[in-house]
Amino acid sequence: MLIVQKYGGTSVANVERIKAVAKRVVRAAKEGHRLVVVISAMAGETDKLINLAHQVSPNPGERELDMLLSSGERITSALTVMAIEDLGYRARSLTGRQAGIITDAVHTKASIEMIRSDRMRKVLDDGYIAVVAGFQGITEDEDVTTLGRGGSDLSAVAIASALNANLCEIYTDVDGVYTTDPNIVPEARKLDKVSYEEMMELASLGAKVLQTRSVEFAMKYGVPVVVRSSFNENPGTLVTKEDEDMEKVTVSGVAYDKNQAKITIMGVPDRPGIAAKLFKGIADANIVVDMIVQNVSSDGKATDISFTVPRTDSKKALKLTEEISKELNARGVNLKEDIAKVSIIGVGMRTHSGVAAKMFETLAKDSINIMMISTSEIKVSCVIEAKYTELAVRVLHDAFGLAESK
Ligand code: ADP
Ligand code: ASP
Ligand code: MG
Repeated sequence: MLIVQKYGGTSVANVERIKAVAKRVVRAAKEGHRLVVVISAMAGETDKLINLAHQVSPNPGERELDMLLSSGERITSALTVMAIEDLGYRARSLTGRQAGIITDAVHTKASIEMIRSDRMRKVLDDGYIAVVAGFQGITEDEDVTTLGRGGSDLSAVAIASALNANLCEIYTDVDGVYTTDPNIVPEARKLDKVSYEEMMELASLGAKVLQTRSVEFAMKYGVPVVVRSSFNENPGTLVTKEDEDMEKVTVSGVAYDKNQAKITIMGVPDRPGIAAKLFKGIADANIVVDMIVQNVSSDGKATDISFTVPRTDSKKALKLTEEISKELNARGVNLKEDIAKVSIIGVGMRTHSGVAAKMFETLAKDSINIMMISTSEIKVSCVIEAKYTELAVRVLHDAFGLAESK
């Protein structure tokens, strides 16, 4: 079989862990598999580099940030090869560029456009284990790019798809995908399998166990993904197509996201074209707006619009909104960063009613105020004060009986 194995930051956090990863890789090679291994930077390394950049400059250029951040994965991929070779196996490290990962030019959150896989194939055909630095690619103009936080997951899935691999294994520090973050709710239950669609919602709503875009990619190209621990031999979670068992469960997971910020533009004229102008300006800056709430004005004149953006983009979004607000003659703009979004997810919601009401009731019982709400066919999300996040996740997990085996 051809297997792509991806090891996350905690799995290569230190020398011992890198050696343990090398052993696991070699074991799969001994079983006769052809292997491409995608490696993340050591845990905390990417944050450290971002921090360093901000110490040098309050507003570091994104091209240079990518150059800097891509170095974390270069380090661990080379070290992993050294450890594999010490075990008597042949391996070659490859940067994103050497692995042929071509992206667009949206620095710090580039999308993979194509993979020129000949070099990887040659490495494999020559009998080496290919060890690819995750999270990075290059543009057609040969500038280094990175794929957004958690982007090594996307590297792995995209490589698995390009090479038509039999399996993409994502090795991490938990045993698989759980009903909610097991580090917050110890009773959380590991799922044996989860549909691409639910996983995509879970990921985009904050469950960082898989990067959202990697799930999107896996779903689009039908890449079989297994999430499992690099610390033990437990079987993990299969991310796959939806089946009938999954539809029976109304709510299958709870997610939270603390990396959000809320911007409110107050007293804007209530007339056509205002929202279009505001959100076009923000979209043009490559900022993804998530929830939007526009109050209907009671006097027919002025209204407030609130929306959420990733916290990393909040200053940029605030500046843009302030500029647009002046043009629109709005009363003012404010930014609130101490918010969080909690969400319940489940494909079974399509056929069950009263799920949202139960969520609101559960939060109300603990006096957690809801600032914004959004729903789709298979999820309900609420924005709340950040300080209530853990409490909200716990009470929702409990209210929907997620700890009990289904
Ligand atoms: P890696 O460094 O291996 O990429 P991440 O830190 O990106 O690992 O993702 C793993 C973490 O995701 C876990 O430690 C856990 O705290 C968090 N997590 C959040 N929600 C979930 C969930 N529903 N199931 C499993 N893990 C989750
Ligand atoms: N090192 C990158 C990050 O911390 C990518 C990854 O680990 O997937 O976001
Ligand atoms: Mg990750």
